[in-house]
Amino acid sequence: MQSDFLKVEGLTKKFGEFTAVNNVSFTVEAGESFALLGESGCGKTTLLRCLAGLEKPHSGTIEVAGRSFFQDKTLIPVNERNIGLVFQDYAVFPHKSVDENIIFGVKNKNHKSDKLQQMMKLFKLEDQKGKMPDQLSGGQLQRVAIARTLASEPSLILLDEPFSNLDKQLGVQLRNELKSIFKSQGLASILVTHDQQEALAYADKVAVMKSGKILQIGTPEELYLYPDSIGVAEFLGNCQFVDGLSDGSSVDTCLGKLKLARSIEGKVKALVRPENIRAELDEDGQFTVQEMTFLGSTRELKVSNGKQELNLSVPSYQEISTGSKIRLEVSSAIVAF
Ligand code: ATP
Repeated sequence: MQSDFLKVEGLTKKFGEFTAVNNVSFTVEAGESFALLGESGCGKTTLLRCLAGLEKPHSGTIEVAGRSFFQDKTLIPVNERNIGLVFQDYAVFPHKSVDENIIFGVKNKNHKSDKLQQMMKLFKLEDQKGKMPDQLSGGQLQRVAIARTLASEPSLILLDEPFSNLDKQLGVQLRNELKSIFKSQGLASILVTHDQQEALAYADKVAVMKSGKILQIGTPEELYLYPDSIGVAEFLGNCQFVDGLSDGSSVDTCLGKLKLARSIEGKVKALVRPENIRAELDEDGQFTVQEMTFLGSTRELKVSNGKQELNLSVPSYQEISTGSKIRLEVSSAIVAF
């Protein structure tokens, strides 16, 4: 059975009258990759800073590996928490070499050489040995910064938008590498991001935040496929709803009878994402393709039956064009609100 490594209960942080983090509770298991996802200003950085010890919470508790970091106004200082912090700016010392940067926080002199070798290999920095930071690219600088954090053997890593200064492809590559590095080391991590795809791809579990509160915590699949609320569904993207009448197990809609993944009765709004809908050319079909965009692997369609407009995504080999009559089908179970 997995154990709770980090336990946050009823955490609140105020700035004057303004509540930036509002009664937040969650747990992170040992070795788990966790993401705090929310739009700008929702309080995710403030929450991360409370975990790191950079902000003093107003109330609540923080416990890491059975040790209390904050309770009843008693605060363990940053330097006694053994937490690794990674920010969006590459926090490297400009006048120290790559090697000196990486071993900066290694306390035991006898371990420095081994640690350096291990980190160089883990972060694919062998070719950068001896170089100065101004000779490195942004991606390499962030690797050095994270290698330095990991070299000091933290018990938990906190990452605040660490990929946002990198171009998309480099960010994705580093994100995937970090996930597997942390997993291989059995290290728990918390990633703060406003990017849905980044959170879904990185984390074992994601907490969606809004206005200082956690709206829902779940695996990426749970959040995307079975959101608890319209707010979470919309935040995770590709959201569209069709009206319907539910008998508790299925909903009658303009797309036919849709199976429900979660029971709800009466007049509802059923969540159908573009990729849930299958389209077939059909002379007698009730929908007509209004717009079509070819995107390589898929065609994005905007279709209408005169009353309801829907977006859908079909494989590009399916030869559908503007003006085609189509029949739509949703075979997977959906959620409704
Ligand atoms: P972003 O992604 O833009 O950094 P965020 O979700 O991380 O957003 P926070 O930086 O945690 O949000 O800020 C949450 C709210 O708290 C914002 O409204 C911000 O203005 C406010 N806030 C943050 N730090 C302070 C501070 N030191 N004093 C006053 N208000 C603050």
